[in-house]
Amino acid sequence: MNSINADKKIAVLGATGSIGCSTLDIVRQFPDRYRVVSLTAGRNIALLARQIEEFQPAVAVVQDEAGCDQLRSRLPDDIKTELLWGEDGLITAAALPEADIVVTGVVGAVGLLPTLAAIEAGKPIALANKETLVMAGETVMQRAAAAGVPILPVDSEHSAIFQCIGQHPRKEVDRLFLTASGGPFRTLAPDRFKTIRPEDALKHPNWSMGAKITIDSATLMNKGLEFIEARYLFDMAPEKIEVVVHPQSIVHSMVGFVDGAVLAQLGIPDMKGPIGYALAFPERPPIHLDYPDFTRLARLTFEPPDMERFPCLSLAFEACTQGGTMPAVLNAANEMAVNAFLQGRIAFPHIYGVIDAAMARHAWHSQPDIEQIREADRLARIMAAEEIQKCNA
Ligand code: MG
Repeated sequence: MNSINADKKIAVLGATGSIGCSTLDIVRQFPDRYRVVSLTAGRNIALLARQIEEFQPAVAVVQDEAGCDQLRSRLPDDIKTELLWGEDGLITAAALPEADIVVTGVVGAVGLLPTLAAIEAGKPIALANKETLVMAGETVMQRAAAAGVPILPVDSEHSAIFQCIGQHPRKEVDRLFLTASGGPFRTLAPDRFKTIRPEDALKHPNWSMGAKITIDSATLMNKGLEFIEARYLFDMAPEKIEVVVHPQSIVHSMVGFVDGAVLAQLGIPDMKGPIGYALAFPERPPIHLDYPDFTRLARLTFEPPDMERFPCLSLAFEACTQGGTMPAVLNAANEMAVNAFLQGRIAFPHIYGVIDAAMARHAWHSQPDIEQIREADRLARIMAAEEIQKCNA
C-alpha cells in the first residue's frame, strides 16, 4: 500500500471507552493499515476480553489485580496476550517498543504518567485525555518538544484548530475560537439547575460520550478544560482564546490569523473524524463520514457563553490565568465533584461550589514539577471530599 500508514501499530489506552471503541472501529475499517499492540481498560472486563480475542494485542491492562484474574478466566488458555494491571501496566502498554502511536483515551488524571512514559519512549501521542494537558501542560509540551514527539489532538475542537493552522507559521496565528455546543442546559432557567438529575445531564444533544465528559459538557467545565488544553497545546495566551457557543456542533472550532482571516473546520459530530486524522496524520484517512447536509441546516448560530448559568467556566479561566498547580487542582476537584453528582451525593450546582472551595484552599506553586503536580492533585481530592461532605451537612 502506498501509504505511510501501512501497518501502523497502535497502543490504545482506554480501549473500552467511547474514544477507544471508535479507534477500534477505524482499525476494523482498515485492517491492512493499522494493528493493535496494546489495549487497556478500567473495569469493563467483559468488553476488553472480546477486544483481546478480536485484536490479539501483545499486552492488555486492567485497573487492578482482581480484574486481571477475572480477565484471564474469560480468555482462552492459549491466548498470547500478556495480561497486566495497575499504573505500572498502563505505563508498559503506553511505552511498548513495537507501538508506532499511542491513543490516550483514558478519562482523568490517570492519563498523565502513561502519556509521559510514551513521550519518553519517543511515541507520537494521539491525545484524547485532555486532563493530561490541564494538569501538566507546560511539562508535557516541553518534554514532547525535547523528544521530537508530536502531540496530535483528538479532542474535536483541538483537532479542528490543528487542521486550520496546518502549515501556517506560529507568528501568523492570532486567535483561537473554541466552539461549545452549550450542553443540554443552555436555555434552562437558572433557578431550575438545582433540580437537575444525573440522567438529565447524561443526555447530550449532539455528541455521544462517556459519563464524566458528558457531565463536564453540561456544566461547561469541559470547555474550561479544553480552554486550558488549547492554551498549552498551541502555546496561546489565555486572552487570545475565545469560547463561542455554537449549538449545532458543525463548526468544530476556528482560527483567526493576523490578517483578520478566519479558518473553520466543519463536519458532522463524530469522533471518528478527529481520531482518524490523528492516526493517519499527515495523511487524511478515507473514512468517508457523511458531510453535513448544508441545505437542511437552517442556520449556524454563535453566541457568548452564559457565565451565570455556567460558573465552572470562569473557574477554569481563573485556573488557566493563574497556571502552576491551579489547573491540576481544578481538574482533581472537578473529577471528585462530578463523581459525587453521578452517585447522587451532591446537587448539580454543588459541582461549582466544591471546585471553587478546593481552589480557594489550595497552597499554590507557580513552577511545579511532576511530583508537586501529583501532590496538588492528591490534596485537592482530599479537600474536595471534605467539601462534598459539607454539601450534605
Ligand atoms: Mg471536545
